[in-house]
Amino acid sequence: MILDSKIPGGSIEEKWTKHKFELKLVNPANKRKFTVIVVGTGLAGSSAAASLAELGYNVKSFCIQDSPRRAHSIAAQGGINAAKNYKNDGDSVYRLFYDTVKGGDFRAREANVHRLAENSNLIIDQCVAQGVPFGREYGGLLDNRSFGGTQVSRTFYARGQTGQQLLLGAYQALMRQVAAGKVKMFPRREMMDLVVIDGKARGIIVRNLITGELESHVADAVCLCTGGYGNVYYLSTNAQGSNVTAAFRAYKRGALFANPCYTQIPATLRFTRPAFLATATCSPSSP
Ligand SMILES: Cc1cc2nc3c(=O)[nH]c(=O)nc-3n(C[C@H](O)[C@H](O)[C@H](O)COP(=O)(O)OP(=O)(O)OC[C@H]3O[C@@H](n4cnc5c(N)ncnc54)[C@H](O)[C@@H]3O)c2cc1C
Repeated sequence: MILDSKIPGGSIEEKWTKHKFELKLVNPANKRKFTVIVVGTGLAGSSAAASLAELGYNVKSFCIQDSPRRAHSIAAQGGINAAKNYKNDGDSVYRLFYDTVKGGDFRAREANVHRLAENSNLIIDQCVAQGVPFGREYGGLLDNRSFGGTQVSRTFYARGQTGQQLLLGAYQALMRQVAAGKVKMFPRREMMDLVVIDGKARGIIVRNLITGELESHVADAVCLCTGGYGNVYYLSTNAQGSNVTAAFRAYKRGALFANPCYTQIPATLRFTRPAFLATATCSPSSP
């Protein structure tokens, strides 16, 4: 089998923007007819669940922990990069893209890295709107620091607990949608299998970690946001829940898997990361 990453055509700056424009939109009145399962409540999962619900979809959100706030994203410390160029030191979307491709040993998918650099500024705006208390200068403007060997200051941070503060922000957005009735939370559930119908992910089997019972859940789409899997290695600073269980089930059901070596083992590898790299998979054919 050949892994088709489905990167759109065109020049690097317009690939994803053009593709997004060409996608068929769902009428706002029809969105409530669709249900999406989101597995994982770290920065990827809680943001995806909250955003999908905000758009009007019905969401079922699952995690192993007793609370979405306990996802491993809470451990991240250093900060999150964005090409805001607040320091006027020559930063730009292209420079963030360039540094990230270089920092990734030229192995990353360049179109996707460009998209990440484009979106980096919006991510900071979204986090601020969610109430994340980023470090500020005395005048009140958001502060930046130079991080991980970059020549510009583009890292937004909240002391040494950026991940925790970001997760609290995403959690608040998620709980707002829970209160609005658009997200149904299923904590203490471990995904045991993926239900695939006609080549599309349509549901999951989970174990209720309190009662031990198996449950099945159906949806129109499944989004796996189950994080890194450093625990496949003997030594890891990752939490025990970062254990590849969900991604492996998708793999067993036919999802193709690329670059499994790209996982965070010690925290010291984090510096090259441009933003919180969420591992979200929306269908088994696009890992
Ligand atoms: C110590 C440390 C420092 C870091 N510092 C930085 C930094 O400075 N900057 C930066 O950009 N990045 C940093 N990172 C990396 C960053 O934190 C992660 O890449 C990011 O938080 C991952 O988010 P996630 O939502 O994909 O996964 P996670 O937060 O790990 O969430 C995974 C979710 O999936 C759920 N799950 C997993 N398996 C199953 C299953 N089988 N069934 C049901 N649910 C399941 C879990 O319960 C959890 O809710 C750091 C990481 C660590 C560990």
